[in-house]
Amino acid sequence: MTCENTTPITGEPIYRDLVVIGGGAAGLAAAASAYDNGVRDIVILEREGATGGILKQCIHNGFGLHRFDEELAGPEYALREAARVAERNIEVRLNTMVLSLTDDRRVVAVSPDEGLVEYVAGAVVLAMGSRERTRGMLGIAGSRPAGVYTAGTAQQFTNLRGILPGREVVMLGSGDIGLIMARRLVYEGAHVKMVLNRSHFSGGLKRNIVQCLDDYGIPLRLSHTITRIHGRARLTGVDVARVDPATKKPIPGSEEFVPCDTLLLSVGLLPENELTRAAGIAMDRRSNGALVDETLSTSAPGIFSCGNVLHIHDLVDFVSEEGDRAGESAARYLAGAEGAAGSADVVRVVPGDGVGYVVPQVVHKDAQGQVTFRFRSRDVYKKATIAVVADGEMAKTFRRPIVLPAEMESVKLPVEAFAGASELKISLDAEQVGARADQAAAAEPAEQLPEGAVAHDLVCISCPVGCMIHAVEQDGKIVSVTGNTCRRGLKYAEGEVLDPQRMVTCLVDVEESAMPASVRTERTVPKRLIPDVLAELRRVTLTKPVRCGDVVFENVCGTGVNVVATKDVL
Ligand SMILES: Cc1cc2nc3c(=O)[nH]c(=O)nc-3n(C[C@H](O)[C@H](O)[C@H](O)COP(=O)(O)OP(=O)(O)OC[C@H]3O[C@@H](n4cnc5c(N)ncnc54)[C@H](O)[C@@H]3O)c2cc1C
Repeated sequence: MTCENTTPITGEPIYRDLVVIGGGAAGLAAAASAYDNGVRDIVILEREGATGGILKQCIHNGFGLHRFDEELAGPEYALREAARVAERNIEVRLNTMVLSLTDDRRVVAVSPDEGLVEYVAGAVVLAMGSRERTRGMLGIAGSRPAGVYTAGTAQQFTNLRGILPGREVVMLGSGDIGLIMARRLVYEGAHVKMVLNRSHFSGGLKRNIVQCLDDYGIPLRLSHTITRIHGRARLTGVDVARVDPATKKPIPGSEEFVPCDTLLLSVGLLPENELTRAAGIAMDRRSNGALVDETLSTSAPGIFSCGNVLHIHDLVDFVSEEGDRAGESAARYLAGAEGAAGSADVVRVVPGDGVGYVVPQVVHKDAQGQVTFRFRSRDVYKKATIAVVADGEMAKTFRRPIVLPAEMESVKLPVEAFAGASELKISLDAEQVGARADQAAAAEPAEQLPEGAVAHDLVCISCPVGCMIHAVEQDGKIVSVTGNTCRRGLKYAEGEVLDPQRMVTCLVDVEESAMPASVRTERTVPKRLIPDVLAELRRVTLTKPVRCGDVVFENVCGTGVNVVATKDVL
């Protein structure tokens, strides 16, 4: 049976030079960049009531170090990108859901105000982001009680509505959303019993394992999974089993019952490409995104793709960078540039050993300048060599101390390096390492410690790179630091050993508002004071209007550090 929408489209089709589908980090950057490259007739279509996408619910810090050279919370980053769009007077249509797209750039959208509207676009940027894998996709046996959520849904409840999803929590999957949520729930008074991961490596960034699990003593059990869900009305517990690394199957007899009232699933994101597929655009089954060329053009001329809808990113800064590129390419297309990913005269880019996917998947033979290739590894590798081979000849190699599936890798290559080739293969040649070895792999222990000295292996959390640092402390001083790749690492090692510090992010009540305000400390505070800072802020009630950047509390816990709002509550 097919279901057809018979509601008439209101009015004539509307022509727009550029239609951007999705107003998250990727869509906002693409629109602003297209404007800066000469396009004026732009509309962003966003199905939610505000722009920002997933950033709106990510109240933690860790965004913007590359793009703004500052550590921001998600909503702050979103507001900065939205401000760039507003400064350029770019039209944003909120509560507008795109229902269909064709390869000749006809876009049908629906909104409560306008009903069904058809846009005919000169160019389209796809920026629809991603969604989470659900319980249904995992096929876990057992009953269907309340209390089983994806980590992102729990994040939305907690951070946008101030609702705690449960008190005794088990997490399946150690993707970044899950790690961040584990800490968030601890802040809100829940007990996170354990985080389980089926594979022998974590799906999240190293810095998140340190800041979100290790800091709070939450055990990460690698090579473990859930085999059964128990409970009738509400979840009462789960069966946890060890996984055989060879067969990747649960080991019979290893099951243990773990009582809990909440199970959070953080088992990966899927690019949201229903519109892309329905438009007949060529897809890459490895990345689950569109197949694109070096300009981020899909196989349909004039349709570009960027951000999480193209491939899942670890950092928003790279999403915005990709949005910039897609916007610039759309502007060039509108100015008459030709070419699409489907055209014949291209170099095919394929993943080799150890590489899951590569974007872009094709490069035009007449491309100019440098091309950035982004990819993910399949496993954890240390002392890795990234080999780029053009038609069987080594074009270039790159070295990395460690490569992790949780972190997007990228290499930049001048087009001359593969001129005349028809295939480019990107592979990893490296020593594969086992469970949690990633934590210590790059930091070799000092051979001989001076008398009275203590060695510390640390993961630097100053930025998302997460360098593995080996520091030696003697008589209350740091006497040597290795493994850092920038000066911030030196400072971090000293601070982390002698006086560990963290930024604190949480919610604060606002009078006469169902929505709490998200806040963060302006700078880091001593880690040992986090519970006191949270307790002090729990007693605060703000009055409207609260604006992003307002100092809402001075000198928290006598630290000399102020607390600022990271979103508007007006
Ligand atoms: C929990 C979590 C924690 C993270 N932590 C960090 C971190 O600490 N540091 C960091 O740098 N990065 C982090 N990231 C990564 C980063 O935030 C994301 O990669 C980035 O924000 C994705 O942006 P996007 O625009 O591609 O997608 P999204 O933010 O998902 O935006 C897509 C937008 O498209 C809209 N849309 C979709 N379909 C339609 C349609 N049919 N019609 C109209 N609109 C549509 C959606 O409503 C949404 O607003 C995190 C991500 C998550 C999920």
